[in-house]
Amino acid sequence: MLIFRQLFDATSSTYTYLLADRASGQALLIDPVYEQARRDAALLAELGLTLAWTLETHVHADHVTGAWLLRERLGSRIGLALAGAAEGADRLLEHGDRVDFGVRWLSVRATPGHTNGCLSYVLDDESRAFSGDCLLIRGCGRTDFQQGSAASLYASVHQQLFTLPASCLIYPGHDYNGLTVTSVDEERRYNPRLGGEVSEGDFAGHMNNLNLPHPKQLEVAVPANLRCGRPEAASAVGADPNWAPLRRTFAGLWEVEPQAMAELQADARVQIVDVREPDEFNGPMGHIPTARLMPLGSLKDGLATLDRQRPVVAVCRSGSRSARAVAMLQQAGFTQVAHLAGGMLRWHVEGGAVAGAQD
Ligand code: FE
Repeated sequence: MLIFRQLFDATSSTYTYLLADRASGQALLIDPVYEQARRDAALLAELGLTLAWTLETHVHADHVTGAWLLRERLGSRIGLALAGAAEGADRLLEHGDRVDFGVRWLSVRATPGHTNGCLSYVLDDESRAFSGDCLLIRGCGRTDFQQGSAASLYASVHQQLFTLPASCLIYPGHDYNGLTVTSVDEERRYNPRLGGEVSEGDFAGHMNNLNLPHPKQLEVAVPANLRCGRPEAASAVGADPNWAPLRRTFAGLWEVEPQAMAELQADARVQIVDVREPDEFNGPMGHIPTARLMPLGSLKDGLATLDRQRPVVAVCRSGSRSARAVAMLQQAGFTQVAHLAGGMLRWHVEGGAVAGAQD
């Protein structure tokens, strides 16, 4: 039996795909996202699967891959395109290669155009294909950076993907409108850029006039992905803290989700520090009942009143000032520090207990 899951990273609109062979428990992930490594690991554990491989469709410019982090934690191997020129992979893939997981496998197809190293992965029975950013649902990846080429993308789609069985389902690397899956037949007919009677010249004309903004993550994501997602500073990854269920962001911050915070506020060891201003603390949003007011501007002076041996969770309105507070606490030598993800705004949305709220 094939296990298949489509996972989504809302920040980058990236799809990560989990494929596994139930009998052997061997699994692989296509395009894991750094910030979602804990989520992915949790799902694998709950499904009783062993992560054999992480595969990349290309060197991404919009998110950092979770490949390195997952290899560190789960011992998986990293597979990516030889043509992508990233370092640190366990296997460099080329057109025609096959990646096994249990009794199932994916075949590798070179589909350059979005980048010169793009790969698509096709399931053994050709019922599903993972097209990365080559072919998207009613669209395609941009071709204006990372050695992109409209001519190669056109050829890749027509020769490698549109030649698959009409019923083959296509799972893209992203979707920005909430669409999840398409098929070869659908895209051959209805893809406005590449389907129907669209010629290579028509396609190039379309692509050359997209006038897309520079991707925000390009400068961070591409260098990190060329290292398979290994953070630059060795200190960026350490042992996981165990005083609370925390989430580590690529920015290096530990976050507490509101749900976990609801339990932490009853833990007498945990010091909750609200770094907003007094009029916010006592204003309409109120505050977490066990929180102490310590405005960010005077946090330095208040540090002496905190116990360094006990965990500290910083809270603010949205999670921005509390992130700064975490950095200040860490600089001051506090080791068990996190902040409330989304601040009081999310705390309210998720129904957290509040004291002192006034209209
Ligand atoms: Fe991309």
